[in-house]
Amino acid sequence: MAVIVQKFGGTSVADPDKIKAVAERVMKVAKAGNDMVVVLSAMSGETNKFVALAHAMQEHPDPREFDMLLSSGEQVTISLFAMAVKAAGMDAISLLGDQVKIITDDSHTRARILAIDTDEIEKHHASGKIVVVAGFQGVTSEKNITTLGRGGSDTTAVALAAALKADACEIFTDVDGVYTTDPNMCKKARKIDKISYDEMLELASLGAKVLDIRSVSFAKRYKVPIHVRSTFTDTEGTWVVEEDELMESLPVSGVTYNKNEARITISKVPDTPGTASKIFTPISDADIVVDVIIQNTREGGLTDMTFTVPLTDYESAMEIVKKVCADIGAERFIGDPDIAKISIVGVGMRNHSAIASTMFQVLANEGINISLISTSEIKVSCVIAEKYTELAVRSLHDAFELDKTTPLEERS
Ligand code: ADP
Ligand code: ASP
Ligand code: MG
Repeated sequence: MAVIVQKFGGTSVADPDKIKAVAERVMKVAKAGNDMVVVLSAMSGETNKFVALAHAMQEHPDPREFDMLLSSGEQVTISLFAMAVKAAGMDAISLLGDQVKIITDDSHTRARILAIDTDEIEKHHASGKIVVVAGFQGVTSEKNITTLGRGGSDTTAVALAAALKADACEIFTDVDGVYTTDPNMCKKARKIDKISYDEMLELASLGAKVLDIRSVSFAKRYKVPIHVRSTFTDTEGTWVVEEDELMESLPVSGVTYNKNEARITISKVPDTPGTASKIFTPISDADIVVDVIIQNTREGGLTDMTFTVPLTDYESAMEIVKKVCADIGAERFIGDPDIAKISIVGVGMRNHSAIASTMFQVLANEGINISLISTSEIKVSCVIAEKYTELAVRSLHDAFELDKTTPLEERS
């Protein structure tokens, strides 16, 4: 008998009919003799509503209470799902993160899973039940409810699959798999059949929200193969697995965008040892993760410092920068929340020169100005004005011919 973990995202359980359809799909696999663990997200839009409600109460919502509220959407879907299964004549039980014992640290809104107790799930499997687990949530050793960060139900599913040594971990969503870019933004996007953990990590960290980055780290660490596929069709999706020699290694395998960052520039900073530390220490002390950093040189012992922060931390970062500017005697600072980071990703980039310059040329041809650039071995990112996001994604997808499967060097 196989143990199968299936996770369904918010659009897959968006209303009672969809929940019933998902229950039918799960019951078919259960009837074939498998022990099922179903991980559900909240109905789409619900978690966003809770975020807005919290901000109507408190400018900076209390982290413990924020998590208590945010985690509640999943309680609705798992209980409705269990009812749908029972109505169809099979047995199911819904469990919250603390009932399973998904133990996390106490970093509210971005908690990390420390341990998972599988006893409760195994007990219910032994009595023939489909086990339905609330995604996105856990509990601390002090019994406080935590959430794992937005999109965190993917992580719940992969972590459960690892803990249970499951035979399969399937992530069901509203697209057929992982594409060369967001298929909802670019019609020419092509589905990738097989992708390595490393490439998927890079795509997820740069904005491809089809899989939460932490779920991919878990999968890589515990060698859990993930199958990303559509809730609404039976077609084969994308396998996220270890890199092997049969895998496509295109110079560029995907284009991503991230509109959830903001840019801050501090002008005329004294160019002396210790200045960067004076700027970035208070920011990291506030638990704000800085992404791209650029320091320019100027005449007269002064420099400009530009960096990006998550949009959700933008206002707090601006407050900190205001204080720091006064301390270090910087002339002024400006912020821009209307930016997007566009990235091209590919393991094959390691062996190809001119990939970055092609990207810059493509953006220049469209009249798109690049304000920040960052590179690594397998990615190039450019920060641009947010309004050009779609244009940039489509032009890069065309320029690198990502709609075609043949490697670039073999194309005529
Ligand atoms: P779920 O609610 O099922 O977790 P998400 O909305 O989190 O679904 O993720 C699926 C969405 O990810 C798709 O609808 C798509 O718009 C977006 N997406 C972004 N980049 C990609 C990509 N490279 N491949 C597939 N989907 C992507
Ligand atoms: N409901 C949570 C969110 O919207 C978790 C998830 O859907 O994965 O972020
Ligand atoms: Mg998601």
